[in-house]
Amino acid sequence: MKRWLVFGLVLCLLLSGCTKEEACAQRTVFCMDTVMDIRIWGQERDAAMEAIVEMLHSLEKTWSATDADSVLSAYNRGEDVLDAQQKALLATAEQLRSQTGGAFDPKLGSLVALWGFYDDNHHVPSDQEIQTARNQTQWDLGAIVKGYAGTQVVEILARYDVDRAIVNLGGNVQTYGQKPDGQPWNVGIQNPAGGDSLGVLAVTGSMAVVTSGDYQRYFEQDGIRYHHILDPETGRPADSGLCSVTVLCADGAMADALSTALFVMGLEDACAYWQAHDDFEAIFVLSTGEIYATEGVVLSGCAFEVICREN
Ligand code: ADP
Ligand code: MG
Repeated sequence: MKRWLVFGLVLCLLLSGCTKEEACAQRTVFCMDTVMDIRIWGQERDAAMEAIVEMLHSLEKTWSATDADSVLSAYNRGEDVLDAQQKALLATAEQLRSQTGGAFDPKLGSLVALWGFYDDNHHVPSDQEIQTARNQTQWDLGAIVKGYAGTQVVEILARYDVDRAIVNLGGNVQTYGQKPDGQPWNVGIQNPAGGDSLGVLAVTGSMAVVTSGDYQRYFEQDGIRYHHILDPETGRPADSGLCSVTVLCADGAMADALSTALFVMGLEDACAYWQAHDDFEAIFVLSTGEIYATEGVVLSGCAFEVICREN
């Protein structure tokens, strides 16, 4: 079952909507299997918007795991098709796999296909099927490419005379620049249980806010929910006691890969990972409903436990 992140999107729009006073370019596009919303303020907003929309469609055409004509599909068939920039993204993904001890694994394509997440032909596989799929290497950048797109958005915006922007790439939010009143961007965090937002995250400057959750894409069989974030060790949906992880990081690709990896790790290992790194913050929602946030997070609207650095 697919659930578009419309609620999160609407929430983000409400929190960061274009004001009447200042001209803003706004566009909603459907790309990478999700609804995206782009808002840009400043002199060259329209030209920047065109460049961003073109880039998003180009990334989809390149990295789609479901389109047999994509560059990724050709690469997965063994063709030598990647240019230098595309090879660099695979190298980044490989590096993040290694850094996260394999919790983020960009080569799970055969397993994702086996579970039926590509064509919605869902299926609970046997141990034998999982074993066979785990031995096959098919790249799948679904857990990093939207964050990478956010990074590309920032690169494009920097080339134009624009003041600021906020882009929601299907739950991956990228902010750019400062609001004129000096106030932080307010990004609504989706409540995994549905309904109102969980809380509002205050973000200063150009940052990526990326959430991975078990409610985003899943199917149910015999009363069990099978979601789309797989534990590379078991080949099955990660059963880590978390239902969502939000990562705040200056780099979009890293935020995206980490939100998936920390989800797979579970709270304890994810906290240890955060303590060993100083380049991101995170919010964890447990299946029990409890919320934890690392000490650099500025979150309002909900009660949560603060995770501090060990001295
Ligand atoms: P979303 O794409 O909904 O924002 P994620 O960023 O967590 O969520 O990416 C999940 C997607 O990444 C899955 O649909 C699948 O294609 C792929 N994937 C699943 N498990 C992993 C994993 N452990 N590491 C890397 N990619 C994964
Ligand atoms: Mg991800």
